[in-house]
Amino acid sequence: MGNDNIFNKLEWSCQKATELIDKKLVIKLSFKENLQLKVHKGICDACRTYEKQSRLLQNVLEDHLLKINIENIKIISNNDLKINILNHINEKK
Ligand SMILES: [Zn+2]
Repeated sequence: MGNDNIFNKLEWSCQKATELIDKKLVIKLSFKENLQLKVHKGICDACRTYEKQSRLLQNVLEDHLLKINIENIKIISNNDLKINILNHINEKK
């Protein structure tokens, strides 16, 4: 009986595994969740690949967002902001 339960947990669904993989990218998993995911990845190629791709995608996304933010800041400070300040000064004269 007890052993059956353990084996059921080993054959834990890919859907639950991918949910935990997504969750893991945002917050830290509990010890139990981590263990369940580890056991599942040990027997499932698809979920191992899914985790790799999720991590890669997240890294690319973070890099991309960082670059966009830096570009936006440059555009604002170099052009629009300067013009705004100059306009403001001229109005006060
Ligand atoms: Zn799986």
